[in-house]
Amino acid sequence: MKKVILFIAFTMMYCGKPTVNKPVVYGLVIHGGAGTITRKNMSPEKESAYRGKLTEALAAGFEILEKGGSGMDAVETTIRIMEDSPLFNAGKGAVFTSAGTNELDASIMDGSTLQAGAVAGVKTIKNPISAARKVMEETWHVMLAGDGADHFAKEQGLEIVNNDYFYTERRWKALQKAQDAEKHGTVGCVALDRNGNIVAGTSTGGLTNKRWGRIGDTPIVGAGNYANNQTCGVSGTGQGEYFIRGNMAYDVSALMNYSSLSVEQAARQVIDKLSGRGGRGGLIAMDKNGNIAMPFNTEGMYRGYYLNGSEPVIKIYND
Ligand code: ASP
Repeated sequence: MKKVILFIAFTMMYCGKPTVNKPVVYGLVIHGGAGTITRKNMSPEKESAYRGKLTEALAAGFEILEKGGSGMDAVETTIRIMEDSPLFNAGKGAVFTSAGTNELDASIMDGSTLQAGAVAGVKTIKNPISAARKVMEETWHVMLAGDGADHFAKEQGLEIVNNDYFYTERRWKALQKAQDAEKHGTVGCVALDRNGNIVAGTSTGGLTNKRWGRIGDTPIVGAGNYANNQTCGVSGTGQGEYFIRGNMAYDVSALMNYSSLSVEQAARQVIDKLSGRGGRGGLIAMDKNGNIAMPFNTEGMYRGYYLNGSEPVIKIYND
C-alpha cells in the first residue's frame, strides 16, 4: 500500500496533473491571389471554375494530411494543382513580362526546421514549387535563379517545358492592355500536419508587364512566404515590392512571437501596414492550433481552408 501511495505521489510530482489529450488539429489554407475580384466582373461559369479548382486543390492536400502525410507533401501537391490550372497566375497561367516572356518565382518553407528553398525568374520549369522543394532538400542553398535554376531542375528530373507552354490568351491580352483587372493570381498554401508541423509555399508568375529580370516577394523567405512551428505559416499575394520592403510574411510571425498577438491580430496588423504604405494585397496564415487568418485590402481574394472535423470553405469576395 505504502509503495502504491509513494508511486502515485512520485508520478504526480514529475508528471504534474493528469493531462487530457487535446484533439489533434490538422488542415490547410490556400489562396489563389488577391485583386480586383468583384461580383460585377465575374460570370457564373468563371466563378464555378474557380470554386471547383480551389476545392480540388484543398481536397488533395487534405487527403494527404488525413492519411498522416507531411505538411510538405500537402503544400507541394496542392500548389501543383493550382500551377497546372490556367486560372491562376502561377505555372500554366503565369502573366507575361514586358518582353513577352514568362518568368516564374516560387518558395517553400518547413516550419519545423526553418529550412527553405526557392527558385526565381525561371522559364522552363513546369512546376516551380517542386523545384523550390528540390533546392531545399538537395542543395545547401536557399535560392537559385534564372538559367542556373532551370538547369538544376532538369538535372533533378523535374518536368521541363518550352517557355511557350505558359502562354494563355487571357494573360497575353492582359499584357497588351497592361492593366489586367486580375493581375494578382499568385497561389499559396499553408498546411499543418498531424505532427504539428507547419509548411508554407507560394508560387507566381509575378506582375503583368513587370520588367524582365524582376524578382518579386514570392521566392524571398520572410517577404512572400514564411513558416515557423512556434508561430505560424504565411503566404502572401499582392504587390511584391511592398511585401519585400516590409518583410511582410516574417512580420506576421514576429508580431506573434514578440508581441504575443494572435494569428488573426498579427495578420490584420500587417495588412493594415500594407494599406498605410499604399500597397495592395492579402495573405493567408495558420498557427499551430489551426487558427486561420485571411486578410486582404483588395476587392477580393480567392481563398479557402479545410480543417479536420469540418467542411471545406471557399471564399472569393470581400464578405
Ligand atoms: N506577389 C507577387 C509578386 O509581386 C504577385 C502577386 O501576388 O500577384 O510577384
